[in-house]
Amino acid sequence: MKFDLWYSEYQTKSLKLSTKVKDVLYTGKSEFQEIQIIDTYDFGKVLILDNTYQTTERDEFIYHELISHPALFTHPNPKTVLVIGGGDGGTVREVVKHPSVESIDFVELDEKVVEACKEHMPKLSCEIDNPKVNTLFTDGIKYVAETEKKYDVILVDCPDPVGPAKGLFEEEFYKNVFKCLTDDGIMVQQTESPLFNTDLIKDVGNYLKEAGFGIIKPLVCTIPTYPSGFWNFTVASKKYNPLESDREEIKEKLKEIDTIYYDEDVHIGVFLATPKYLK
Ligand code: SAM
Repeated sequence: MKFDLWYSEYQTKSLKLSTKVKDVLYTGKSEFQEIQIIDTYDFGKVLILDNTYQTTERDEFIYHELISHPALFTHPNPKTVLVIGGGDGGTVREVVKHPSVESIDFVELDEKVVEACKEHMPKLSCEIDNPKVNTLFTDGIKYVAETEKKYDVILVDCPDPVGPAKGLFEEEFYKNVFKCLTDDGIMVQQTESPLFNTDLIKDVGNYLKEAGFGIIKPLVCTIPTYPSGFWNFTVASKKYNPLESDREEIKEKLKEIDTIYYDEDVHIGVFLATPKYLK
C-alpha cells in the first residue's frame, strides 16, 4: 500500500498551507511545545512548533539574512549581539559571519528545539557551537529584565505572539530591550504579516517609541511559507538610520561575508520600498 501523507498548517481559521511529506524526521514534545521536523518535496526540511511552520530549508535564507544583516550593517562596528529565540540556529549562523562580532549571547527557551535542529537541520544550526556563541536556555523576557549586560545589536527571532512568546510583543519587553542596548544600539524583531497583522505592527511601533527609540522602520519581504506570504520585521535604532548607511562601505564589507539575498542595494531598498499604508 502506498501512503500519500500531507501536513497542513491552519494559518487562519479558514486558510491552510499544505505540503506533501517525504519523511517525518523528528517528533517530540518539550515542556513548552510540540516539535516536529519533516522533509518535504518543495521546501526541504521544515521545522514545525505547535503546528506552525517556523522555518524551511528552501526559504530560510530570506528570513535569516533580513533579520540580521540590515541591523549588523547599519551599526558601524557591532561587537556584542543578543539573539532571543531562533532555536533553529539560522540567525546565529548569519551573525557569526560578521568579523567585528566578538560575542553572541543566544537566549533560547527550549533546549529540545536546539537539539532536534542540530541533529536534523545542520544547514541552519551549523554555528551554534561556534566559540563566539554563548547559549543560555532561558526565557528571553526574563533575561532582558534581569541582565545588566549591554549589547550593540539585539535580534528577536520569535514565533507568533502566543504562549511563551506572547510577552516578547509587550511594552515591558521593549523597555527592557532598550535598557539592554548600548547608546547606539539597534534591535530587530520579526513582527508577523503586514497583511494580516497590521494592528500588531502598529502596536509594536508605538511600544518602541514609548520605550525611547528615535528611529523605527518596518522592513517588508516575501516569505512563501508564512501566513499571507508577505512578512515584516521591525527595526528600532537609537542612533543610526539604516537609510543613511554608506552603500560602498557595505559593498566592501560584503567581500568577506557570503550572502544569498542581502547586498548593499537590498539594504537601502527594503527600507525605501515600505508600502504606503505601513508608513
Ligand atoms: N522564524 C520563526 C518564525 O518567524 O516563526 C521563529 C523560529 S525560532 C524556531 C523561534 C524560537 O523562539 C523557538 O525555538 C522557541 O522555543 C523560542 N521562544 C519562544 N518564546 C521564547 C521566549 N520567551 N524566550 C526565548 N525563546 C523563545
